[in-house]
Amino acid sequence: MLSVAEAQELILQHVRPVPPEPAPLTPALLGRLLAEDVVSDLDSPPHDKAMVDGYAVCLADLGTGHAVLPIVEEITAGRTPQVALHPGQASKIMTGAPIPSGAEAVVLIERTRMVGDRVEITDRVSAGQNILRRGQELRKGQCVLAAGTILRPVEVGVLATVGHTVVQVTPSPRVAVVATGDEVVEPDQTPGPGQLRNSNGPMLLALAAREKTQASYLGIARDDLDSLRSLIRQGLAADVLILSGGVSMGTLDLVPGVLREEGAVPRLHKVAMKPGKPIFFGTRETATGRTLVFGLPGNPVSALACFALFVRPALRRLAGHPEPLADVGSAILHEDYPYRSDRPTYHPARVEVGAHGWQVRIVPWGGSADLLSLTRANALVLLPAGDHVHRAGSVFTVVPLDL
Ligand code: AMP
Ligand code: MG
Repeated sequence: MLSVAEAQELILQHVRPVPPEPAPLTPALLGRLLAEDVVSDLDSPPHDKAMVDGYAVCLADLGTGHAVLPIVEEITAGRTPQVALHPGQASKIMTGAPIPSGAEAVVLIERTRMVGDRVEITDRVSAGQNILRRGQELRKGQCVLAAGTILRPVEVGVLATVGHTVVQVTPSPRVAVVATGDEVVEPDQTPGPGQLRNSNGPMLLALAAREKTQASYLGIARDDLDSLRSLIRQGLAADVLILSGGVSMGTLDLVPGVLREEGAVPRLHKVAMKPGKPIFFGTRETATGRTLVFGLPGNPVSALACFALFVRPALRRLAGHPEPLADVGSAILHEDYPYRSDRPTYHPARVEVGAHGWQVRIVPWGGSADLLSLTRANALVLLPAGDHVHRAGSVFTVVPLDL
């Protein structure tokens, strides 16, 4: 049986990033990976510009820190100065407006007052004061964003600055979600005897959507070959097919068999971990591409943990992220915790910033079906196999769920 780390490596080896495509400059770019170097088409600012409201002056007039000067022009942002400034003159100027030729500094308006139609200035002025020079922020031809950057609001602003309105990004992967089980009913139904509501379908759809994928829900397949085959065939048209349930050793665990019949090559069927263990991973090749297939355990906490450990890194790599496991970190255990298990356990936990960095508290947990306890968790903490009293202050690996 593979370890979690071995399984993650194996899965990532089978992921081929989706080729880039152009996208418009909209909020839909957030979280996507930039697939080109972006170069500025202009100098910014495009001219020497005033950084404050005030008066443009020549240094010669303010050697003593005091002058009374006639105002030759008022320059507002967006206007071009019409008059060159000479010693003995001032131009009123607003933030963002171009500096007139001859001017050497801008005096803040608060350091001035009007005396009739002239301006009295009381300020020590240095060369270039309150002037942002042409090209000081960025220069034409300069690479402002490198390929591989993950786009955040600030990068959207920079793309706008340089007029880059069509952006090459790796497209969001198409994900299909299928639930399975004769006992599973949709959330708007009242479960009959032996039935339960489908929590995994909506949850996996939400998990996939949060990874910036185009996720669609295909429904509940019954535990029979025809029902499974039909939904699996639909799902195999996506880049990633995620199924829940039907992958363990029960008599009605038919998912791996049907996936095989439909051309998915099994790559992995069990991982040494709790919750989880049975997890199917396979790949299916067609003329148009490769589908990654994940058969997750039916118990909701197992499905969630397997998504965080295996599906999420695959989705990130698919979208081009170079380090899809970069968010796995470490934290200091907050309190002693005795725990025994035959397998490494990814236990629900709460990670918080403490006085000495990240600390992790164990969240009480009733096992693989106890999804409710996960509402108090924001991470999974890895507790090694064996019979231990884990000591407060020791360092543990944590996998974020919602950090
Ligand atoms: P399975 O992996 O199909 O053996 O399912 C394991 C457990 O998870 C069973 O108790 C199922 O009833 C439960 N289960 C399976 N699918 C779902 C689902 N979509 N939502 C909630 N629980 C489920
Ligand atoms: Mg089942």
